[in-house]
Amino acid sequence: MNDLMSIAEARRRLFERFRPLPHEKVPIGEADGRVLAEDVSAAIDLPPFANSSVDGFAVRAGDVASASASAPVRLPVAGDIPAGATHTTYLAEGQAARIMTGAPLPPGADAIVPVEATNFKRTSMGAPLPAEVKVREATSPGANVRKAGLDVLAGSLALAHGTSLRPQEVALLAALGRSHVLAFRRPRVAVLSTGDELVEPGSSLRHGQIYESNAIMLVAMVRRAGGVAIDLGIARDDLQEIVTRLDWALREGADLIITSAGVSVGAFDLVRAAIEQNGAIEFWRVDLRPGKPLAFGRYRDVPILGLPGNPVSSFVTFELFAHAAMRALEGRSPRELPRVSVTLEEAVTSDGRESYLRAQVRREGREFQARVLEKQASSVLSSLAAANGLVIIPSGVREVAAGAHLDAWLLEE
Ligand code: AMP
Ligand code: MG
Repeated sequence: MNDLMSIAEARRRLFERFRPLPHEKVPIGEADGRVLAEDVSAAIDLPPFANSSVDGFAVRAGDVASASASAPVRLPVAGDIPAGATHTTYLAEGQAARIMTGAPLPPGADAIVPVEATNFKRTSMGAPLPAEVKVREATSPGANVRKAGLDVLAGSLALAHGTSLRPQEVALLAALGRSHVLAFRRPRVAVLSTGDELVEPGSSLRHGQIYESNAIMLVAMVRRAGGVAIDLGIARDDLQEIVTRLDWALREGADLIITSAGVSVGAFDLVRAAIEQNGAIEFWRVDLRPGKPLAFGRYRDVPILGLPGNPVSSFVTFELFAHAAMRALEGRSPRELPRVSVTLEEAVTSDGRESYLRAQVRREGREFQARVLEKQASSVLSSLAAANGLVIIPSGVREVAAGAHLDAWLLEE
């Protein structure tokens, strides 16, 4: 019925044209947000040695088997083992040693009695070493002991190639002693705005001009997606100027160029001419609202993605397509924003394309309610700014009743 390319098909085609970038050695202090380009196997046991999980007294469980509150077992305290103690002495039968959380279990001992199960108060742990401790509870071998390798065994796979590193993975790498890891290079993404009507915010507007807003948004989106942004500024609707700025992207080592506007079938479709002169471009008519026209090609050797000029179209097509391309460059699978099922507060209509409607989504108990915002034109930024979600009307659907369930993307805060 329609000759539009599905969004899934456009994403698939785009994704398969990108290969992961080379990897580089990254200090772990800068590794958050990067993607691992190696399998990390543990060089050491984690923890590296058996240690205490509480503040208390190291004992032989057998020595306190009969201990109870009414008949405590008295043991002489043979030593003091703080965290960081690099050597500990043998604990002989019938002895106890005071031990702190994280301190190595002395050879000979097999359990830790927590300080709460002795005649000492927690607050007295900083006090001088007592000569004797009364143990009020029996314990069993292994109690309150973190065995060597409990967390990760030496030689086992700790993190797999392709893992996206978050603060928690970075912590695991650090705990294993890694100072650097191999990660895919961050994609360098150049952003070009085109149009004679555009002026930089901060300058004065003449009649007929508007402030440039797409490049500033797309640069921010590139950064949030983990890329390094190269801002190519605003090109006039002038073939030579567009070529000059695109060539600048090449000199800056761009892995991907994103343009906004100037590719529509109008008198000023000069981005298209600039690319055709120095590469190749194809146009996809995608089953998407907003954002039907999408251009993809190569400028010399660099992939180029031409997004529509209307701000909301630029936003949605970045999320659907440019983000997927950036993920492919980092060796990741394509992924959309998180989706939830929402109940519509009011009926909505669509034109049959898969539509992304700006909405306020709020949680009501276990459910999400969505209120689609009033101004849905693709030029309207205020409703995009007010939205915390985009409600998705599937392809082929023209009317959805109030109370119906639809999927929605949740936008990042
Ligand atoms: P075009 O694709 O050049 O026909 O542009 C479509 C619409 O998007 C027009 O209303 C442009 O003024 C607007 N537009 C294009 N580029 C930008 C930009 N960088 N910032 C804000 N609006 C833009
Ligand atoms: Mg234009």
